Amino acid sequence: MKALVAVKRVVDYNVKIRVKSDHSGVDLSTVKMSINPFDEIAIEEAVRLKESGVISEIIAVSCGVSACQETLRTALAIGADRAILVETDVELQALAVAKLLNALLVQEQPDLILLGKQAIDDDCNQTGQMLAALANLPQATFASKIVITEQHALVTREVDGGLETLQLDLPALITTDLRLNEPRYVALPNIMKAKKKPLDIVTPHTLGVDVTPKLNTLRVKEPPIRSAGIKVKDVATLVEKLKHEAKVI
Ligand code: AMP
Repeated sequence: MKALVAVKRVVDYNVKIRVKSDHSGVDLSTVKMSINPFDEIAIEEAVRLKESGVISEIIAVSCGVSACQETLRTALAIGADRAILVETDVELQALAVAKLLNALLVQEQPDLILLGKQAIDDDCNQTGQMLAALANLPQATFASKIVITEQHALVTREVDGGLETLQLDLPALITTDLRLNEPRYVALPNIMKAKKKPLDIVTPHTLGVDVTPKLNTLRVKEPPIRSAGIKVKDVATLVEKLKHEAKVI
């Protein structure tokens, strides 16, 4: 069984984001970039499935600039077998990534497709759902447990009311939630080994996909600075303030 895992290069979650002075976007020039945390969980899950003998090959895929090769090397160090970079300098939006991944699904024919539930830079939470629609695949989003049998995936997912379990026919697409697993610490020998694993580079053009952005960003602004809170002496004062000052009740 083959798994394809999508990994995105994003601003590291520890970095404090700054908006560019011309408000055209976020300043990425000097910030640390890392693998999207939900995608690290997706790779970890695929590696655990491989270690338990369910999966035989893991392909990590990233779409974006040449530096995404570093992200793919991280995925290879965690345990992916090979990697594909769809290289482009065009700013990729969710639909374009879904189309690129869909083109690779046609080539690779994986049984299991894993993505993060969302990328922590744009917080779109769209790519997995769009890809499942384009590829006409059964999907389970926000997975907190995955059990694979010969023809099915049993996926426990976190929904507002608690946990829901879905049975999907394979091939299927699953997006990962935070509680699915805790990714392993990558040891130096695995980082060294990852440098020798195959990494193919293709382009949107060779995949026959038009990645021209469909959405224009008009302006990016910092969120307003929150004013300091106050302490009130009792509940009656709190209710009074909520009614007459904040006007929320
Ligand atoms: P999003 O819809 O942007 O929140 O992203 C959801 C998931 O789609 C991510 O966690 C990744 O698994 C995948 N994804 C999004 N953009 C890319 C990209 N440029 N390259 C590879 N995977 C991506």
